[in-house]
Amino acid sequence: MPFVNRRCARPGCGSSATVTLSYAYAQRTVWLDDLSEEDHPANHDLCDAHGDRTRPPRGWELRDRRGATEWLPRLRYAG
Ligand SMILES: [Zn+2]
Repeated sequence: MPFVNRRCARPGCGSSATVTLSYAYAQRTVWLDDLSEEDHPANHDLCDAHGDRTRPPRGWELRDRRGATEWLPRLRYAG
């Protein structure tokens, strides 16, 4: 299990990233997901606070899929 330890992408924010933000241009949808294991260059990693503050561009929809990824194996941490 790789240990995910990435930082929030917002300038001046050094918090640990917990959210992965991605843009689906074709669907005009912004996705908020639990932090993805792979660091994809098209995605943005955000901390909890900045993830919660994310607002979609005008005409776009924001969909929060955090905690709803049953189709993916959940990350499990001991302890
Ligand atoms: Zn942040």
